Amino acid sequence: MTDLSMADGFMIKPGEWQIAPASLFEFSPGQGLDEIMAEYQDKLFVVMQDYLYSSDPVTAYRNEFNRYINEAFTFSFVAGWADAGASALTDEAQSVLSGLIASEIQFADSLFTQLKTLREDDEIPMDDKMDAAHAHAEGYTQTLVGVYAEGKMMGEPNRDGKWELGATEQHCTTCASLNGKTHPLSWYLDNGYIPQEAGSGTLECGGWQCDCSIVDPKTGEQLIP
Ligand SMILES: [Zn+2]
Repeated sequence: MTDLSMADGFMIKPGEWQIAPASLFEFSPGQGLDEIMAEYQDKLFVVMQDYLYSSDPVTAYRNEFNRYINEAFTFSFVAGWADAGASALTDEAQSVLSGLIASEIQFADSLFTQLKTLREDDEIPMDDKMDAAHAHAEGYTQTLVGVYAEGKMMGEPNRDGKWELGATEQHCTTCASLNGKTHPLSWYLDNGYIPQEAGSGTLECGGWQCDCSIVDPKTGEQLIP
């Protein structure tokens, strides 16, 4: 269990946090999702940039990248959890979060394989390599929207939510069929329907173009993401 005191933001008690030692955190507890995303994107880009400019072994860069995944996923999930009004992270929530982190770290393995090939290719100008690093940082950062959403849905599972299509997207068949229907947030979670979840395996569009949200069916207040 992790104590999240809402009095002055929330505090993570050192030693009670299983995901990462408190001393490793550079993101600040209480940051909003936008701030976490901006910081994450910067950090990921710089690691990739440093790696691409260097001729060092990959290990230190990989470790740093993984640490940022760990921190940003934790803070995004906890931000969603706290925004849902939930106070203490349950064991179940912690285990879901650990699973999300573990699978992202697996993705990062193949990313660094790609980056190694890119680094060794002298035909490709450095500007293009940096563009690639920027694109990767953006893609990885987008994933935090789904992590936040998952935290929020787990924090408030019994609340009703209505799926609402985004304003400008080309709607995928999954989103179109969910549109306008109301279910408890736990139903969306159980079925894996998380709006704007980049890399989603359940949304036909993969979530990359998704601009949908889940709103309160009575007030229209946006709940997810
Ligand atoms: Zn959508």
